[in-house]
Amino acid sequence: MSAYNDKAVVLGSHKFAEADRVVILLTEQHGKVRAVARGVRKTRSSIGARLEPMSHVDISLRSGKDLDTVSEVKLINVHHNLRGDYERLTQGLSMVEAVNKLTPDREPVAHLYEVLYRALHALDQRRSPLMLGAFYWRLLAIEGHSPQLEVCVACGEKSDVVTFDVAQGGIHCISCRSGVPLSFGALDIMKMILGGKMNQALMLEESPAVHEVSLLAMEAMEAHLERRIRSLGVFDRHL
Ligand SMILES: [Zn+2]
Repeated sequence: MSAYNDKAVVLGSHKFAEADRVVILLTEQHGKVRAVARGVRKTRSSIGARLEPMSHVDISLRSGKDLDTVSEVKLINVHHNLRGDYERLTQGLSMVEAVNKLTPDREPVAHLYEVLYRALHALDQRRSPLMLGAFYWRLLAIEGHSPQLEVCVACGEKSDVVTFDVAQGGIHCISCRSGVPLSFGALDIMKMILGGKMNQALMLEESPAVHEVSLLAMEAMEAHLERRIRSLGVFDRHL
């Protein structure tokens, strides 16, 4: 078995054998990796405590046939603030869950790793009503599903934008309108998030437009996850 080191965000874990856990890691260099942490359920294991979902770690692994094995873990960031705040905890868990569902095993996704650990770090540092919504839009963009925000997806019209259609993946003009009404404020915020002005978007306070963008993000992510699950031919919704 060969040994390797990597940095990773813990996406989740489940019980394995009598005293072990399998942890799912999004690593910087090796993509999504499943690894056994041996004996962590038997004793008060310090390794186990460092492998909570959302933790950012420096990890040593030994590669195995099906599962790798965790040999050492150093915490980079445990995100204390967000763990103590129910709302942020829920948002952080939703982030790692979405990434887990969308990422295939063993395909290097360094960019996604970086986006995820930065988002968790930002969530730990401050509250923002757009934290999860903005993350979902970024994630969809990384997945190649950036919404069309410049012209009507149906006819190419640039003006009179009135709706956003999640199924069509973009804005609609007044003649083609379908989906849900979209305010100018919400459209501006989406352009901020997807146009490299993420920090500016995260500074915004709660408002109807901010709420609109968050709701649309949830809807778009749900639709994308369903498409993905269908395309994999997996029908177990409890994945
Ligand atoms: Zn149109």
